[in-house]
Amino acid sequence: MEPDVLDVVVVGSANVDLVLPVQRIPRPGETVLAAGMTRGPGGKGANQAVAAARAGARTAIVASLGVDDSGDLLRDALASSDVDLSLVASTTTPTGTAIITVDAGGENSIVVAPGANGELTLSEPAARAIGGAKIVLSQLEIPFATVHAAASASSYFILNAAPAAELTDELLANVDLLVVNETEAEAIAGSDRSALLKRVPAAVVTLGAAGAVILTRGGDEIAVAGVPVDAVDTTAAGDTFCGVLAATLAAVSATDSMTETDLRNAVRRATVAASLSVQAAGAIPSVPHGDAIDARYA
Ligand code: ADP
Repeated sequence: MEPDVLDVVVVGSANVDLVLPVQRIPRPGETVLAAGMTRGPGGKGANQAVAAARAGARTAIVASLGVDDSGDLLRDALASSDVDLSLVASTTTPTGTAIITVDAGGENSIVVAPGANGELTLSEPAARAIGGAKIVLSQLEIPFATVHAAASASSYFILNAAPAAELTDELLANVDLLVVNETEAEAIAGSDRSALLKRVPAAVVTLGAAGAVILTRGGDEIAVAGVPVDAVDTTAAGDTFCGVLAATLAAVSATDSMTETDLRNAVRRATVAASLSVQAAGAIPSVPHGDAIDARYA
């Protein structure tokens, strides 16, 4: 795939997820027994890249993987969803690993060992692909300097500021669209989410089952309702949302003339996609394909 035909470049983490179903998530100092264990491909970057590709965008991932079984698991999962792997670096450091407990209500709690993700830098070809892509999407499970470099080189940069962190004005100056859940919004702007607009030109705050709100400078806050479903596992709901949002915005002819309607339509499609992902277990295995999304998105 030529870098200049890419719709979406995801710069982010790739992890193997060890998923442990528990009756309830343990409190500090407590031990609980899991009902089983599954091992599958995940990590915010990999999940978002798969979501964008399955939603129909020509997608590449810039990531760092170990030369190990976990790395192979991820390479296979990404390639079989048509994510371009030519910008993936291999290292002798082990592939990132996440331990995910999921309780009976579908809520999760996650600890990540970054491993190879901690070594991700932008190679020359990666920087070129980022410069040529319509949309670049990143998160905060990789070194901050790499996120910063990707933001500076992008023409339209979406930051999913997850996991929650305080961010510098220097990074936020290069963000075109911020996507955060309520916890992450609070880490950046405090309890008044409209204060996000002092730091970025546009933001989407996801609200779990309630859907999402869109904030733009000079516009009213727009609420997009959630799709009522029976949630079995919310792992990768936010990632599905971000990947499908990026893929849908990449289909808008020119990102510099993107309208509020374009953004609202993309958020609606992302909300439908995320509601499908919570009805299936796992990270990448739960990410829906474009035809399933569009069967429910009118
Ligand atoms: P995160 O998973 O990153 O914390 P949220 O919980 O806000 O983020 O979920 C992201 C999106 O996933 C929401 O905007 C919504 O579209 C969808 N979603 C999450 N939980 C549910 C649910 N229980 N029912 C339907 N949709 C959901």
